[in-house]
Amino acid sequence: MNASPFTQVNETATAGVEIAGLSKSFGSNLVLDDISVSVRPGSVTALIGPSGSGKSTLLRCVNMLETPDRGTITVGSQTIEAGRRVRESELLALRRQVGMVFQSFNLFPHFTVLRNVAFPQEKVLGRSREEAEARALTLLERVGLKEKAHQHPGRCSGGQQQRIAIARALALGPRAMLFDEPTSALDPEVGVEVLAVMRELADAGMTMIVVTHEMQFARDVGDHLVVMADGHIIEEGDPRAIMADPQQERTRRFLSAVL
Ligand code: ADP
Ligand code: MG
Repeated sequence: MNASPFTQVNETATAGVEIAGLSKSFGSNLVLDDISVSVRPGSVTALIGPSGSGKSTLLRCVNMLETPDRGTITVGSQTIEAGRRVRESELLALRRQVGMVFQSFNLFPHFTVLRNVAFPQEKVLGRSREEAEARALTLLERVGLKEKAHQHPGRCSGGQQQRIAIARALALGPRAMLFDEPTSALDPEVGVEVLAVMRELADAGMTMIVVTHEMQFARDVGDHLVVMADGHIIEEGDPRAIMADPQQERTRRFLSAVL
């Protein structure tokens, strides 16, 4: 455990994530239909399913980038109930506890790598520039990119940029992390570097929900596998058990397409 480069980062990152009775429509399109998922503190849930099944929308609801129509989201001690008016302070408190990494890294191209990781800490947490940059350097070292600190993201590979995005999210001290297909835009050989960082983070005890088509990662690192289709959870359980013997025909079809 102590060998993990993230041990220190995650001392307090032990929040579970509870999604209960979540529904979301876009117009007449019911995208999430009464979804409940329970993610134990420090565990990794892999979320898979065909394109359009609602995986991204589910993650976006967890940190309220989308407003759910029904249901509750609980991260640690913070609960948000759909339908009730959400105070700005509650929204900020929730978002602060949940870091998110997207398929496209969304780094600021005109900032150095260091400023990309430091700036959100100054904005969101009110840290001094000095403190934020010190923390940024520590995290960049942990993702293996300290030597890139003073370059611009454009000089970095896609895999490096995604690791910078992970460092940026971690710098805000989240208690859970959401990953939405973090390696789908990357060549396999650099995707591996990103998956290695995610594995270290999992080993260090970070609570994670990971949308991915990387079945080996889901099997080796995932504690729990959730299979979605058409806004429903069609199957969930132990990743190895589901991959070895899926109970649903649609799971079987999906797995044979990605394995
Ligand atoms: P997945 O990530 O599993 O591919 P998404 O959550 O992105 O699925 O999308 C689920 C469904 O919701 C799709 O039918 C998609 O077109 C629709 N959808 C997603 N976001 C929006 C949006 N902002 N406005 C309207 N429809 C959306
Ligand atoms: Mg998606």
